[in-house]
Amino acid sequence: RETLHIVGGGMAGSEAAWQAARSGVPVVIHEMRPKVGTFAHRTGNLAEMVCSNSFRSDDDERNAVGLLHWEMRAAGGLIMEMADQHRLPAGGALAVDRDPFSESVTERLRAHPLITVTDEEVTSLPTDGHWIIATGPLTSGTLAEAIRSETGAEALAFFDAIAPIVYAESIDMSVAWAQSRYDKGETEAERKAYLNCPMTKNDYEGFIDALLAADKTEFHEGETAGYFDGCLPIEVMAERGRETLRFGPMKPVGLTNAHRPDVKPYAVVQLRRDNALGTLYNIVGFQTKMKYGAQTDVFKRIPGLQDASFARLGGIHRNTFINSPTLLDAQMRLKSRPHIRFAGQITGVEGYVESAAMGLLAGRMAAAEILGRDLPSPGPETAMGALITHITGGAEAKTFQPMNVNFGLFPPIDAKGGRRGRKDRYKAYTDRAKTTFNEWLVGQG
Ligand code: FAD
Repeated sequence: RETLHIVGGGMAGSEAAWQAARSGVPVVIHEMRPKVGTFAHRTGNLAEMVCSNSFRSDDDERNAVGLLHWEMRAAGGLIMEMADQHRLPAGGALAVDRDPFSESVTERLRAHPLITVTDEEVTSLPTDGHWIIATGPLTSGTLAEAIRSETGAEALAFFDAIAPIVYAESIDMSVAWAQSRYDKGETEAERKAYLNCPMTKNDYEGFIDALLAADKTEFHEGETAGYFDGCLPIEVMAERGRETLRFGPMKPVGLTNAHRPDVKPYAVVQLRRDNALGTLYNIVGFQTKMKYGAQTDVFKRIPGLQDASFARLGGIHRNTFINSPTLLDAQMRLKSRPHIRFAGQITGVEGYVESAAMGLLAGRMAAAEILGRDLPSPGPETAMGALITHITGGAEAKTFQPMNVNFGLFPPIDAKGGRRGRKDRYKAYTDRAKTTFNEWLVGQG
C-alpha cells in the first residue's frame, strides 16, 4: 500500500495520521521538533498546545465549537479522545492538562504499527507521493519560502491581521445603511456591498479616546522578527495622529447617509460582507492588538454596532496561512499539485479544535484516495463541513483571513419561518448537523 506522508505533527498532523492509519494506510509523520524549534513550542511532543490549555466550549447543543467536539468524537478522533482523558474542571469549557495530553497523543501515535515518526524538517515541496502539509502557523522559514514560490507571494501570508467580524443580524440597520463608496459597482448588489456606520465629530473624538485608552496585547518575543510588513493596528494609526483614521479606513467621502441625506458624517466605519451567505461582515481596516474585552467596549461605541455580536474579534499574530479559496480544491488538494493536501491552521482555520478537525478530514480524504475510494466532505450543515466549505470556496478570496468555527458559516435555518430565540435556533443548527454528520459517517461504512 502507498504511504501517506504528513509534514508537521501538531494538532492537524496528529489527527490526520490517526485517521489514515485507522483506515489501514501506512503513515510517516515528519516533525521537525525537537531538532528545530519555534518561538512558541517548548517540547518535542506531538500535538503540543502552544498557548492556552482550552478547547473552548464543550456545549454540543448550542455552541459551534462544542458541536465540532461532538463530530470529532463521533469520528473516533484521537485529539478529542486524549483531551477527554486529560480533562480539567472548567465549567462548560473543555480545559486540558497539556503535558499529559500531548504525551499521550505522542505515545498512541508512536505505538501504532502503521505510523512512523521522523524528526526532520521538510524544506521543499515534494514532487510525488501522497502528502499532507500541516505545518501550522509557525511553518519553518525554508518550507514557507518553498510554498510561497509555488503559490505566489500574495497567496501566502506570514501574519494574520484580523478585523473583527460581526453577525449581520446584530447590526442596527436603522442607523447603518448599505452603499459602496461612490456607488461603485456594475450591479445593485455591488453598489450596496458595504454597510456604513456614521459618526458625528463627538462620536469620533470619543471613539479615538477609547481606542487610545484601551488595553492592548504585545507581540511575543521573536514573533515579528524579519516578517512584520506594516499592517498597522487601528490603535497605532490613532497614536500617529487623531485624524489619521479619518483620512484612512474611516474616511467619510463618497458616502451619503440614507437615513439622513442632509447630514454629512464626520467619519464612517465601513463593514464588508465576509461570506457568500451574507451572514457575516468584517469591519474594514480594523485589525487591532486591543484585548478582547476592550474591543467589544470600543466597537460598541460605533453607531449601528451598539448591540453588535461578534463572530470573532480582531487580532494580529504571526500566522503562516495560504489563500485556500484560490489554491485548494474541495478535497483540500493543492490545485497546482494535487498529490499535496494542506490541513490545519495553515489552511486558514484558527484554533486547536478547528485545526485538528481539518486534519481529521484531510487524513480521511487522503486515505480514501490511496484506497481508491471517493470521500465527499461532510455537508455544510455540519461544523466540519461548514469550515471546509468556507475555506475552500465560501470565503471571499480577496479578504481571506483565518476563521474560527461559528454558526455564521452554516446555511441559515429559519430563513422563511418566524424568529426563533437564538438558543432554540442554535439547537436547531446542532440537531441538523448531528443528523447530517452521522449520515456522512454511515456512508463510509
Ligand atoms: P501546529 O499545532 O503548530 O503544528 C504544526 C507542526 O509542524 C509543529 O509541530 C511544527 O513543529 C511542525 N513544523 C513546522 N514546519 C515544519 C517543517 N518544515 N518540517 C517539519 N515540521 C514542521 N490556538 C488556540 O486554540 N488557542 C490558543 O490559545 C492559541 N494560542 C496560540 C499562540 C501562539 C503564539 C500561536 C502561534 C498560535 C496559537 N494558537 C492557539 C493557534 C494554534 O497554534 C493552532 O490552532 C494549532 O496548534 C494549529 O494546529 P496545526 O496542526 O495546524 O499547527
